Amino acid sequence: MNTNFQSWIQTQMEELKAQNLYKSPPILESPQNGRVKMGGRMLINLASNNYLGLANDPRVVQAAVQAAQEWGAGAGAVRWLGGTNTLHETLENKLAEFKKTEAVLVFQSGFNANSGTIPPCFGEGDVIISDELNHASIIDGVRLSAAKYKKSDGYVYKHADMNHLEEILKRCGEFKKRLIVTDGVFSMDGDIAPLPDIVSLAEKYDAVVMVDDAHASGVLGVNGSGSTSHFGLYGRVDIQLGTLSKALGVVGGYIAGSALLKKWLINRGRPYLFSTALPPAAIGALIKAVEILQTDPQPMERLWENTRFWKASLEDLGFDTMGSETPITPVFCGDEGKAQTMERRLREEGVFTVSIVYPTVARGKARVRTMPSAMHTRQDLEDALTAFHKVGKELGII
Ligand code: PMP
Repeated sequence: MNTNFQSWIQTQMEELKAQNLYKSPPILESPQNGRVKMGGRMLINLASNNYLGLANDPRVVQAAVQAAQEWGAGAGAVRWLGGTNTLHETLENKLAEFKKTEAVLVFQSGFNANSGTIPPCFGEGDVIISDELNHASIIDGVRLSAAKYKKSDGYVYKHADMNHLEEILKRCGEFKKRLIVTDGVFSMDGDIAPLPDIVSLAEKYDAVVMVDDAHASGVLGVNGSGSTSHFGLYGRVDIQLGTLSKALGVVGGYIAGSALLKKWLINRGRPYLFSTALPPAAIGALIKAVEILQTDPQPMERLWENTRFWKASLEDLGFDTMGSETPITPVFCGDEGKAQTMERRLREEGVFTVSIVYPTVARGKARVRTMPSAMHTRQDLEDALTAFHKVGKELGII
């Protein structure tokens, strides 16, 4: 073992600890649900992206078991080298119908879908214009591209600021292609991107639009089909990304767009070309999860009922939820140490939430992120509010 390397890691971690930025994963001892077991105790689970409860829905679990029994445990290869089976085709066709796009291509994760799609579509001579709060997987995808994209060169616009976006577009006329890329729902703030304005600007300045609907899938639009549906922008968004890991409850990501885009990504999307396909159990479960979204409105209704109750109650108690419009509900703390203490105290009071600090959000904008879901009963949320009230007062947040 290289001792220099080990001691370098040690020093870095000590710095993180000194700045209250050190993370270690909480370990769950029970399946995803409204309450989960941790350290032998049951805690109200406000940390999950399992918006609709599908991760542990018996219909989805049964479909996973059946697919594993019929098809085996693993895909055996990357998609284009024999790892694609008819389950993949069924899932992609169902998703394309759901998204009302010509085609869908499934990747192993939402992260992979972002980093596998942006570099082959935008390169030398192109420019990528990003919202400053875009998700890390968009940022990594952008960094892998040979296009111009840097904040220091002026290609990152202030969060949701359409005047700033237009200012940038005005000076990008010389590039071969222009991409505007944004989260549909911002993952740490819970606000919705102004997609109609972005699309209008893109049409005015001949730009391509890509929206990352990781947190809009299963949450916004007809049957949860995303922000393009929510705003009635069918046919006007070039590249839509969705995750299969959050509201859909399993794992994976996808790109919805034209049939031509799909063919290009099959030929040039590196995670598609070089990383093994999702296992049959995941694909089988996802086919069922999409069917549930299309036919059973109840999980989405419960999600939104809980979301409205949760946000209004937190605000009544005096917490700042930072303009969130969706189930993602940040509770502003500001100081990193305060956010970490809040997380710990809430856990002692029976609530599981996670503090979000730099580099996930800017320094001084630390928060605990809460996510009400279809899994919660009213009692779960009321008990959580009692804990928030107590801890919020204790820490001087309310
Ligand atoms: N985009 C956004 C906005 C996300 O929040 C996430 C997940 N944190 C991803 C992409 C990546 O999705 P996945 O977890 O499926 O890799």
